[in-house]
Amino acid sequence: MNVTEEKIYSDDNLKVNSHKCPNCGGESVFDPKEQKLRCLYCGSLFEIKNDIIIEERNLDELLQKGKVWTEVEVYQCQSCGAKEIIDNQEVSMKCPFCGTSNIIKTSELPGLKPQGVIPFKIGAKTTTQIAIKWAKGKVYAPKVFKNSVKPNNIHGVYNPIFTFDASTKSDYNGQLAKNHIRYRIVNGRRESYTETKYFYIQGQQVVNFDDLLIQASTMIPSYVIKDLQPFPTKKAIQYKTAYLKGYAASSYNKDGNSCWDECKNEMKNRIENQILKKYNYDYKIFLNVKTLFLSESYKYILIPIYIGHYNYKKKLYNFYVNGYTGKIVGKTPVSALKVFFTVFGILLTIGLIIAFIFLMNS
Ligand SMILES: [Zn+2]
Ligand SMILES: [Zn+2]
Repeated sequence: MNVTEEKIYSDDNLKVNSHKCPNCGGESVFDPKEQKLRCLYCGSLFEIKNDIIIEERNLDELLQKGKVWTEVEVYQCQSCGAKEIIDNQEVSMKCPFCGTSNIIKTSELPGLKPQGVIPFKIGAKTTTQIAIKWAKGKVYAPKVFKNSVKPNNIHGVYNPIFTFDASTKSDYNGQLAKNHIRYRIVNGRRESYTETKYFYIQGQQVVNFDDLLIQASTMIPSYVIKDLQPFPTKKAIQYKTAYLKGYAASSYNKDGNSCWDECKNEMKNRIENQILKKYNYDYKIFLNVKTLFLSESYKYILIPIYIGHYNYKKKLYNFYVNGYTGKIVGKTPVSALKVFFTVFGILLTIGLIIAFIFLMNS
């Protein structure tokens, strides 16, 4: 494709939701490799005019109602209950979480319009290769699982998240305890015993947080989001519908306020850990921490995640790939037969070694 052939695509010079190819009228999808829209029929590429790195917003704005997302619709999967936001020009209508086509449109509103987006960087093909390699490495997974990693089982879903910044200043006081091993002579014999020493602590702790990530959707387990990190939240660019072409977005089910509350709890945990790290102790008796939060700001963005699903013995297993870095996370079913033979093999080996030693000594 010649660069001169490319046309500039932007939300401003085309009617919202008309993402048809100007050359042939065909449907276009977002191409992660090119970071452009690609026509599904004639292959033409269209640039998405967007170079705006989004800025943090003051937390006060979050407490008021934000802009409503209007150009998309909410669909619900009748099989697994997942709620997905799909641009109404979406071509394939399969649930990314369970793969069924049992999706119906709801009258629900999509909620807050994302401020920014981290567009998918790696394509479905590369993601499939990553997933195949990962599945093959799962020694105890059943063969049928390894064979299920196919491109049509992998879907890209944008996930809504909040990132929060804050400077914190905390005053604390508490009591800790440390065990010491001491020795004494009892009836002429040396004996050890434990002596516990209690001590009071107090002081001030300053901790600055930058882009702490909180999920606004609970569709993906929080341990997965934790393990898939980092996402380049500093590189988030202004949201445009074009990035959603051919992809879905997970519906958010936690509002900004509850996400901020969750974030404050996470920050408080981290502050407590930092305070305790300064001391040599074995257990905590009590710790009071009074924290002042200053210059809080946030970003509300979509992060790219590929979801692959797999049904094994009526149970749904999902694996997830960071759509920017390619990092993969997931649980796989374990083949009882394979585990049995491994354990059997180990026991057999131990048995043979014992028999060998026995024979050598007789
Ligand atoms: Zn075309
Ligand atoms: Zn589903």
